[in-house]
Amino acid sequence: MYYAEPVAKLIEELAKLPGIGPKTAQRLAFHLLNSPREEGVALARAIVEAKDKTRYCSVCCNITEQDPCHVCTDTARKRGILCVVEEPRDVVALEKTREFKGLYHVLHGAISPMDGIGPENLRIKELLGRMGDGTVQEVVLATNPNVEGEATAMYIARLLKPMGIKVTRIAHGLPVGGDLEYADEVTLIRAFEGRREI
Ligand SMILES: [Zn+2]
Repeated sequence: MYYAEPVAKLIEELAKLPGIGPKTAQRLAFHLLNSPREEGVALARAIVEAKDKTRYCSVCCNITEQDPCHVCTDTARKRGILCVVEEPRDVVALEKTREFKGLYHVLHGAISPMDGIGPENLRIKELLGRMGDGTVQEVVLATNPNVEGEATAMYIARLLKPMGIKVTRIAHGLPVGGDLEYADEVTLIRAFEGRREI
């Protein structure tokens, strides 16, 4: 109505992004319109390439360009300990601490009945599939310290413990209700050191 049709479309697409309201979408759209054509093309290309050239690692389910990912194929990493996180960005946060030398498993979410997300919507089956050969001796549950993260940790612990696997939970040096990715490195390291068996 108020914008040329292609501009309205751009605003509509930008407004679908998390944390972007209609006002911000409008501001971004006009910023893009005012910038050189190459910048717009570079952004569009980066989005398409990120979508086309990445996939889930067939082992840990993290987002990767090569399958298996560089962590899963790294021979220097300990195969006996596995850290379970909710999102790929949590792997990035933990890798930045350089404290954890084991492998990861990305669930892609947490159990949340309110949002209709059950265990079957997460990569839990794939996690259990990694327990078969006895290599993994400890699983560190590093889901977020909120209601959904705790419920997910308890659910997974109940599945793994009968398999004779040591199950630990990262300590709550982390703020309750917060997100792993926003924690500073020291807090993350403390939380890891203080993990306990559950
Ligand atoms: Zn992997």
